[in-house]
Amino acid sequence: MSEHTPTPNKTAPIEGSTAVPPAEAAVVGPQAVSHPPHTHSTENSGHESSPETKPQEVKARVSSAESPASETKPPERPHVVVFKNVCKTFGNGSGAKVALHDISFTVEDLPNIGELVTIVGPSGCGKSTLLRIIAGLKPHFPPTSGEVHVFGKSVEEPGPDRGLVDQKYSLLPHLTVLENVAFGLKLRGVSRSERLDQAREWITKVGLDECERKYPSELSGGMQQRVAIAATLILQPRILLMDEPFGALDPGIRLRMQELLIQLWNEKEETVFLVTHSVEEAVYLGDRVFLMASKPGRLVEVLKVPRPAEPPEESRRKPWFIDFCQALLRRLEEESPAPPGVKV
Ligand code: ADP
Repeated sequence: MSEHTPTPNKTAPIEGSTAVPPAEAAVVGPQAVSHPPHTHSTENSGHESSPETKPQEVKARVSSAESPASETKPPERPHVVVFKNVCKTFGNGSGAKVALHDISFTVEDLPNIGELVTIVGPSGCGKSTLLRIIAGLKPHFPPTSGEVHVFGKSVEEPGPDRGLVDQKYSLLPHLTVLENVAFGLKLRGVSRSERLDQAREWITKVGLDECERKYPSELSGGMQQRVAIAATLILQPRILLMDEPFGALDPGIRLRMQELLIQLWNEKEETVFLVTHSVEEAVYLGDRVFLMASKPGRLVEVLKVPRPAEPPEESRRKPWFIDFCQALLRRLEEESPAPPGVKV
């Protein structure tokens, strides 16, 4: 198994500017309608986070985590995602349900790198709603109040700059694995031989070489999820939204997919939002962990994480990693119900 590339400094100063592709259509699994992929630089910058962080440093990091609503100077290049006081309520009157309450955060567009944000919190705290608002997908989008900006523009609808890997594997049942993975490229007008070549590469990356001629119904849930991941990643969206993408996978395959995600993240400059129920996965993958709480769904803390330099199974044995996970678990357990005055 390959070792991770050292990770750039996640707090590097913002420089330069970036072109923003037009938001025209969503990239959501193989049914996506989208446009030629954004070309990314593979150059990284900044210094490496130390994997040998001492427990006391971990504690300091956890306790000094930035406020979700923290604001910086006006950016020289548009932020990747900005939420300003975003609320989402489903339904009306006595049946109204507050899914998200007053969520604010910023993901900056750092030069030549992306950020991997993991989101943890109890079921029903609004993790999927948050992702789907970024994706511009109804009925979660639009928010009831507040502002959502992607690359400096107000989100109006889904776009090819955002790709969602959902909990449900959005595959086309009448297409083979190969055709499913290639489908988005077909819609982009990529030639048959080119798209099938690329699709085969992605099928290999997700470990499904033997399955390219099979149909979704012939695959396990975990295999279908890997096809859905490949079908989204092949389109190289600038913002990758992953809603518990590895939840259905066996532990060994899950580790392999985590490795793949890290590898891709290092190669591209994409921003990734990944919802997970696994604290270990959140800490291993995340540059920042968004900690959410429920009743009402809200963002309670943002934790910066040093990036491990080793494969997952080694990282997980390091004292700093164990301490960080325990601290996060404690924070998850501490989170209490609704503040007064908010109807849940
Ligand atoms: P999570 O992903 O953290 O489990 P969700 O974002 O799926 O949470 O849901 C947050 C809250 O919003 C839950 O109470 C859920 O029941 C509610 N909710 C989500 N989607 C809808 C919907 N389409 N209609 C009504 N309520 C919804």
